[in-house]
Amino acid sequence: MGELNLILLGPPGAGKGTQAQRLVDDFDLPYYATGDILREAVKNGSELGREAKSYMDQGDLVPDEVICGAIMERVDSPEAADGFLLDGFPRTIGQAETLEQALGRRGRRLSAALLIEAPDEDVVRRLSGRRICVANQHLYHVEFDPPKREGVCDDDGSELIQRDDDKPETVRKRLDVYRKQTEPLAEHYEELGLLRRFDGTRPPAEVHEHIRAAVKTLKLEDEL
Ligand code: ADP
Ligand code: ADP
Repeated sequence: MGELNLILLGPPGAGKGTQAQRLVDDFDLPYYATGDILREAVKNGSELGREAKSYMDQGDLVPDEVICGAIMERVDSPEAADGFLLDGFPRTIGQAETLEQALGRRGRRLSAALLIEAPDEDVVRRLSGRRICVANQHLYHVEFDPPKREGVCDDDGSELIQRDDDKPETVRKRLDVYRKQTEPLAEHYEELGLLRRFDGTRPPAEVHEHIRAAVKTLKLEDEL
C-alpha cells in the first residue's frame, strides 16, 4: 500500500487539532503538531524552546530554520515511513518548499493538503474558549465542548489550562499572521492539485465525516 502523507491547513482555531485526534485513529498515522512540539520544547527549556519562546509569546511565527529541522527529524523517523499527519506545518511558502524538496530527495511526496476553513468571527470565539489538558494536549471548549468536570480532562484527569497565546490580544495577531503568511499556501497546493477544502464552521463530527471520506478516497485511488 502507498504512503499517506497528509498536512492540515487552516487558521488558528479552525479545528485542525480536533480533527487530527480523530484522523490518527481512523488511519493509524503518526501525528506531529508543531505547536505541541514547540510548547513542549519551551517547557523543557531545550535549545529549540529557547529560540522559539519570544516569537510564540508575540503570536509571530518562529523562523523557518528553527522549525524545519525539528519536523524533518520526525518525518524521517521509522514510525513515519508509511505516512504521517502534520498539523501546523508548513506555515510559510519557504517551509512548504523545504518539505517538498526533502520528501523528493527521499522519493516521497505529499498525498494531500487538507484545508479547514473558518471565518475570523468563529475562530476568535473558539480560541478564547479553548482549553487544553496539561498532560496530553486533549482539547476542550468552555462552551462548545466542555469537560464533564470543570477544569479537569475527561481522558486523563489532568488540569485544563488556557494557552497564553489564546488571550485576545495575541489571537488577533496570530490571525493576521495566518492571513498574510500561511493562507497563500492554499493556492500553492491548489496549483499542485493537492488541495482539499472543508467547511470548518460545521460541527466537529460532520467535519470529521467529510475529511475521513476524502482521505478514504485518496487511499482507494492510490491502490488502483
Ligand atoms: P486548531 O488546532 O485549528 O487551532 P482546535 O482543534 O484546537 O483548532 O480547536 C479550537 C477550539 O475550537 C477548541 O476549543 C475546540 O474544542 C473547538 N472546536 C474545534 N472544532 C470545532 C467545531 N467544528 N465547532 C465548534 N468548536 C470547535
Ligand atoms: P494553532 O493550533 O492555534 O493554529 P499552533 O499550536 O499550531 O497554533 O502554534 C502555536 C505557535 O507556535 C504559533 O503561533 C507560532 O508561534 C508557533 N508555530 C507553530 N508552528 C509553526 C511553524 N510551522 N512555523 C513557525 N512557527 C510555528
